[in-house]
Order: sequence, then C-alpha cells, then structure tokens
Amino acid sequence: MSSLSDSQSSDFDSTKYIDIGANLLDSKFQGIYNGSQKHPPDLDVVLSRSLANYPRPDGTLDPQAPCQRIIITAGSLSESLSSLSLCSSINSKTNFPSTSTTCGFHPTRSNEFTPAMEQFILDHHRSISAFGELGLDYDRLEFADKDIQLSSLNSQLSIISSLSSSHSIKKPLFLHSRSCSSDLYDILLSYKISNGLDTLNGVVHSYDDSIELALKYISLGLYIGLNGCSFRTDSNVEVVRGLPLERLMLETDAPWCDIRKSHEGWEFVGEVWEEVKEKKWKEGCRVKNRNEPGAITRVAEVLAGIKGISVEEVRKVCGENSMNLFFR
Ligand SMILES: [Zn+2]
Repeated sequence: MSSLSDSQSSDFDSTKYIDIGANLLDSKFQGIYNGSQKHPPDLDVVLSRSLANYPRPDGTLDPQAPCQRIIITAGSLSESLSSLSLCSSINSKTNFPSTSTTCGFHPTRSNEFTPAMEQFILDHHRSISAFGELGLDYDRLEFADKDIQLSSLNSQLSIISSLSSSHSIKKPLFLHSRSCSSDLYDILLSYKISNGLDTLNGVVHSYDDSIELALKYISLGLYIGLNGCSFRTDSNVEVVRGLPLERLMLETDAPWCDIRKSHEGWEFVGEVWEEVKEKKWKEGCRVKNRNEPGAITRVAEVLAGIKGISVEEVRKVCGENSMNLFFR
C-alpha cells in the first residue's frame, strides 16, 4: 500500500482539485439506492471521470477529470478498513497516492465507538490522512442521542491526544458539525486548552451554519469545508461571502450534497451535464441527484461566483490549504 509519506505526496498540480471529502463506499456507487439495485456498479466509471490518472474501462484517461486527490470519508472502524483497501486498489491504478482515508466514528455512528480505534490507527496511520469524521449532529438524534454522541466524541479526542503524546502520531481533525449550536466548539476549545495547543489542525466540513460559529471555528485554527449544502439558501450564500478564502477548502461529500437548480448558488454553475435518473442509468452517464467527486468543479464555480473572483484562484488557494493541512 502506498503511504502518504511518499516523496511525491507533497506535489500539488494547481490545475487540479483536491476533494477533501467523498463517501466513495456509499452503495449508490454500487448501483444500490435504498437497498434496491437500480443499475450495475459504476464506481470505476465515476472515478475515471473524477480522478486524473484513473483509467477508463478502455484504458485511456479522461483529460477533463478534475481531481488530483480525493479523501474518502469513513464513519466507523469497519468503514475505515474497507476504505483502506479501496484506496490501495485505486492508488495502484493511478500509480500515485490519489486517495487516502479518514478514520473515526461519525456522530450518527457513535453507538459503534470502540477503543480499538487506537490500535487500528497505530497499525494503519501511514495510510490515514485525518481523524474523523467526528463531531456532533443534532439533526439526526434517532441514530445516536446527545449523550452517546458526546461520549463518543470525548473518547475519540482522548485517543487522539494519547496518539499524539505517546506515539507522536498527529493528524488533522475531519469534523462534522450539524445543528449543534456551540457544543462542538466548546468541546474543541477545552481540548485545545487542556492539551496546551496553540492551534487546532482540522476542517469543519459541509458547513451550513452561521458566520459567527464559522469564525469561532476559524479562531481555533480550523478550516471550513464547503460543498453544495453550503450554497442552498440566501443566508448560506451570505455566510460563504463573509468567509476568508485562506481558510476554505472544497469538497463534494458525494454522493450527497449536490448543487441543485433550486439552490441559491445554482446561478453560478457553468456547464450543465447530461444526467439520467438511476432507473434510466446508461453507461458513462451521470446520475441525477447523485453527487460525485468530478462535480468538485461546480463547488469551485459557485464559490468563485459568490466571491467575485476567478475559478483558478479558488482552485489554487483552496488546493494549497488542503495540501498544507492533510499532506505536508
Ligand atoms: Zn459529515
């Protein structure tokens, strides 16, 4: 398995994108929607139009494929294990550390938390680019109530602290913050103070909350990750307009959080692609409402439009931010 410490891993091609969060293990990339098979698995095709150097079925490359790197988000230990093997298979085809994974327990998977996380990270840390997803999600308490989410979060932070102090294993935090007012911020602030840290390394991804909370996260040293969920409403767009580009990163959160015509940010989307519903899937065609890393270009277009700057500037600054946090 190629490791993130390969010498080539610090190279960044500023004509390409880094998608800092994609759920490539999702069953939709195997053609399964709500438990029912709608079309053949097509992750290979999705990757070939998303990831530079990933060959199409006929062996050629898609010159339009926009991403140089994708971080695959995992929400449990079993997902992290599957993600490691998916990364290994993808990277052997691109001959580059194109993909890496997070490792941690998503707030909705807090019930699955196990201290075995520590040994798992000791065994695999060279192929893990971030701790996460971890955080709080008060929109989906049906999967894990507040107490269980808080307990899983605090347990993970103490493992992360121990990995740093006892084993010098330090990774950025890949944070999920949904409808949790300042609870996550308060916990991170006390973590920062109790560990004597000047700053926290990490990103709060899929951001859709207030400007005040975003600036509090930034004051801890964190970055803000943007995807389609960040551009839905007028007030989302106003928040994004107020955030400094130097603290932003681009992500798709595929297959979720696509940018839709009904969203406020849609007016800035450039090229409109042919898309079909999953039932009418055909080889090589994008699926309507199923996001994929190749659509990272749209996130950049909308951010550039909101800020009144060029797509090139967005790609370069956000790409450098992502390289510095995860890969250098
Ligand atoms: Zn998330």
